[in-house]
Amino acid sequence: MSHLFYQGRGRKPVLDQARGVYMWDKDGKRYLDGSSGAMVCNIGHSNPNVLAAMRQQMEKSTFGYRLHFETEASEKLAARLAALSPKGLNKVFFVSGGSEAVESALKVARQYMKAVGQGSRWKVISRQPSYHGSTLGALAVTGYEPLSAPFEPMMRQMPKIPAPRAYLDGLNPNDLETGRYYAHMLAAKIDEEGPESVMAFIVEPIGGASTGALVPPVGYMERIREICDEYGILMIADEVMTGAGRTGRFLGSDHWSARPDILVMSKGIGSGYVPLGAMIADDHLVEAVLDAGGFAHGYTYAGNPLACAAGLAVVEEIESQGLCANATRIGEKLLARLHGLMQKHDMIGDVRGKGLLTAFELMADRDKKTPLPKEWNAYQRVVDIAYEKGLIVYSRRTRDGIEGDHILVCPPLITSDTNLDEIIEGLDASLTQFSGEIAG
Ligand code: PLP
Repeated sequence: MSHLFYQGRGRKPVLDQARGVYMWDKDGKRYLDGSSGAMVCNIGHSNPNVLAAMRQQMEKSTFGYRLHFETEASEKLAARLAALSPKGLNKVFFVSGGSEAVESALKVARQYMKAVGQGSRWKVISRQPSYHGSTLGALAVTGYEPLSAPFEPMMRQMPKIPAPRAYLDGLNPNDLETGRYYAHMLAAKIDEEGPESVMAFIVEPIGGASTGALVPPVGYMERIREICDEYGILMIADEVMTGAGRTGRFLGSDHWSARPDILVMSKGIGSGYVPLGAMIADDHLVEAVLDAGGFAHGYTYAGNPLACAAGLAVVEEIESQGLCANATRIGEKLLARLHGLMQKHDMIGDVRGKGLLTAFELMADRDKKTPLPKEWNAYQRVVDIAYEKGLIVYSRRTRDGIEGDHILVCPPLITSDTNLDEIIEGLDASLTQFSGEIAG
């Protein structure tokens, strides 16, 4: 009997070893990690340089409380992350995960607004669907009903605008008008809520699990930035999934000129070696908070030296191995191969993504964009079949009246052409088996 419990009662195989893009369970079965866990293990498993850096740090110290000591590891990682962030975002606050990073961003924004005499601004607008974390503050800005409904009434459900899912609305994502159309929804929502009450807009630069690798339409992010400036609200980029090279640039935000005021990272920065996250904020914002008496927030494990040493080694691997470039190269091939599968499998209704954050969506009718029947549980069944075949992918079913089963294909950034062949073969076989099941 296991004493563990997570989302359900299902018991999973016991993990034994993991190397590169592969993982083995206790029975010796091999899996290709086609989702990097939950889009986490960006540099692959058991990287010797990261393990060596961790060992070295462990020999020196594994804990120093942030109110007692700085550590070399946290100082160095903060400096590297500031250098890799947009100009002016130089203040780094370490945490242990994505939800904590989002909470930290919401709280620093709130203290900033108070510090500059705009304490009436407290609402945070976000998108539907979206995912920003599981703690109650992060959940309030999350637009994903399966994870928020069980906790309603929420402490405060924050206002949402639709995510720019041009493919569902029959709009051309490469048309500037499309980007402006969706961005305008933010201005309209701010007006509706009362501009004096709105503090920030939080956005995943490229959608993660909730939208299935949704790339915004041309001009969207730039117009969002302008609207935030026009109304004097902060723009928070949730880079928990898009950061650390996942989309082919170090940050998802690097694909556009729209510079956020605050960004949050986690997942790929610890790459599964350690729990690590960071909130990186604009200098002038943090200085205002510090001048007004300090940031009234923190976590016991913030800036943990072992976590930071691992994070620093992860960033070094991303840079020295050219993993952003590899994510772009393999990501382009992956998208092309997924489009190839779309020719063969009618149920693939859309293929999208950037770098190695890619997804395809299953539909009953590609032209009408109708979802598959809910009772088929396609999103779960396809993943289960692939898992049986030794391929791990990640899926979600979006709800809230907008339905779609999407499968995320997000292998580590070290993925080779041979690994890619294996992923496509596994997906092809899984979709063929699933089609047979529903036909029979
Ligand atoms: N933000 C985004 C975009 C995410 O994808 C996630 C996790 O999936 C989170 C926040 C929350 O991160 P964590 O699960 O580490 O708390």
